[in-house]
Amino acid sequence: MLPGPALAAPTEADWAAAVAAVRRLPADARVLLVCHVNPDGDALGSMLGFGLGLRRLGVGRLQATFPGPPELPEPLGWLPGLDLLVPSVEAYPDPDLVVCFDAASASRLGELVDRLDTAGDALVLDHHASNTGFGRLHLVDPGAAATSVVAEELLARLGVSLDAEIATCLYVALTTDTGSFRFEATTPAVHQLAARLLATGIRPGDISRRVFDTRPFGAVRLFGEVLGRAVLDPTAAAGRGLVWTYATLDDLARHHQRPYVLESLIDSVRCTAEADVACVLKQVGSDEWAVSLRSKGAVDVSRVAMALGGGGHRFAAGFTGHGDAQEVLGRIRVEVDAALIAS
Ligand code: 5GP
Ligand code: MN
Repeated sequence: MLPGPALAAPTEADWAAAVAAVRRLPADARVLLVCHVNPDGDALGSMLGFGLGLRRLGVGRLQATFPGPPELPEPLGWLPGLDLLVPSVEAYPDPDLVVCFDAASASRLGELVDRLDTAGDALVLDHHASNTGFGRLHLVDPGAAATSVVAEELLARLGVSLDAEIATCLYVALTTDTGSFRFEATTPAVHQLAARLLATGIRPGDISRRVFDTRPFGAVRLFGEVLGRAVLDPTAAAGRGLVWTYATLDDLARHHQRPYVLESLIDSVRCTAEADVACVLKQVGSDEWAVSLRSKGAVDVSRVAMALGGGGHRFAAGFTGHGDAQEVLGRIRVEVDAALIAS
């Protein structure tokens, strides 16, 4: 599947409709916040930051959740607002409003997808160009560096002022999706948002160390092993190069590590100078792999991921692959060649 027509940023009418959907909630309304499966810093941070904002507005019956096991990656297990979280099985079956965060498609909501139909209204906050337009109200800005950019603007339009707790959540989200202000989407507006967040008194050094620079020693050893088997294929993508590696469930077990530690593995692989495309296959089942793709710009990896059933952005995308690692890689190679951007 090729990407559809380019998505436009939300219009004033879109913002007004989202504000109205929150303002017209009755006093005893039940609001359910949902982010994508296997939540990352942007999914969780934008959801919890927005949730804390709704709490300040007086929304009392408020839950936040995500599909799958109710386990958080350790680096995110200290965020403010975690008391809003409930396991997906306990989520309101028919909330007055459901708000979705950082999910490009309804399938990313897993077993919670039915809430799009059972809720009184469904508002979607996202920034993926591949967003499918699910839900009724859309605040989807493909030009936004993170979903938290959209969440902060909606909070501002609702009259919620930032405090340190909200800012901590939104800062984690913003730094996660901009690679700590290194990626292409790091616009002047991103730095202006960061300035507003820092002005609440939060400590960026502490936050970054906890989120990005802390991992168990077993994970350090695991990375050594998995990086040691990385393969560089300089002929892929018409000579732009592909570098890849994989990590199995057995690798995790041998080093006594949980799957979240592998989320940052792609960052150690993608620095390979000789490859435009980097790829990490993380085993999640006997024949199933969560695949991370990164590009330096010659290949649009969102096209690769979408062709293989996933999604994402031009420089960062992912999908779930089936078969053995070599089979999944074979499919990626074919799509990488097809997704080469004409230059
Ligand atoms: P990561 O490699 O960090 O898991 O994901 C990179 C980007 O690809 C993120 O924007 C994420 O939302 C998207 N992505 C990763 N896996 C999937 C997937 O299975 N389906 C979809 N639609 N998007 C994915
Ligand atoms: Mn995001």
